[in-house]
Amino acid sequence: MKQPVFVANWKMNHGPSEAEKFVSRFLSKYKAHTDRTVVIVPPAASLSTVVSALGRRKDIMVGVQNIHTEAKGAFTGETSAEMARDAGAKLALVGHSERRHVFGETDEATAIKCARAFENGLTPLLCVGETIQQRDRGEAESVVLRQLRAGMANLKDSQPRGIVVAYEPVWAIGTGRTATPADADAMHEAIRAELTKMIGVKKDATKIPILYGGSVTAENVRSLLEVGHVDGVLVGGASIDPNKWNAICST
Ligand code: PEP
Repeated sequence: MKQPVFVANWKMNHGPSEAEKFVSRFLSKYKAHTDRTVVIVPPAASLSTVVSALGRRKDIMVGVQNIHTEAKGAFTGETSAEMARDAGAKLALVGHSERRHVFGETDEATAIKCARAFENGLTPLLCVGETIQQRDRGEAESVVLRQLRAGMANLKDSQPRGIVVAYEPVWAIGTGRTATPADADAMHEAIRAELTKMIGVKKDATKIPILYGGSVTAENVRSLLEVGHVDGVLVGGASIDPNKWNAICST
């Protein structure tokens, strides 16, 4: 039986006051389930607010949208992995397509960030995905697997087994255009095979959740989760409305 993982990426939405209202509305609808994992990833300014608004709802975790490659220092505007952990985050998004394409984050930086996350007790959620041009050139799988290998390049010992991966085709993020369940399944299968190669033990590689992200809604989430190699979803736009997010998590 799959234990699906639902991750809400609020992006730059919901400051502390709105975040508090969201959590109260969401909790009034969403009853704790033991058969799934729910994670809310607010902007850094709302992290502590979301953690305290969740209170005793330990069935819901909180994550951070980005961490810096360095542990501390003169990096105005940045958040370190240690600070995020201290504020209550348990997970860190790494290599989100907006970080890669809007902020120029490189594969090398994602590798450092994944390692930093582990050093500070955060689970890295490594995001990978091809652009439409790369897909049209037939390079989707090679791009995604290269990003996967590069992001995990600095991990040591048992760390690779503790990662979470999200396949998010860039052309599907925020566009209303979702990958078909069959396309998502095929890419997830390729990612799983690569993880098995890297980790060397099929049983351990099978335990790594591989999420799909890109225009997931309450209407299409079930068809995506039904395919064999999709273990959960990473949701942007539809996660900022508590009713929609409840409908997705209650699927
Ligand atoms: C995302 O930001 O990771 C994402 C998948 O966004 P959306 O659901 O809006 O496509």
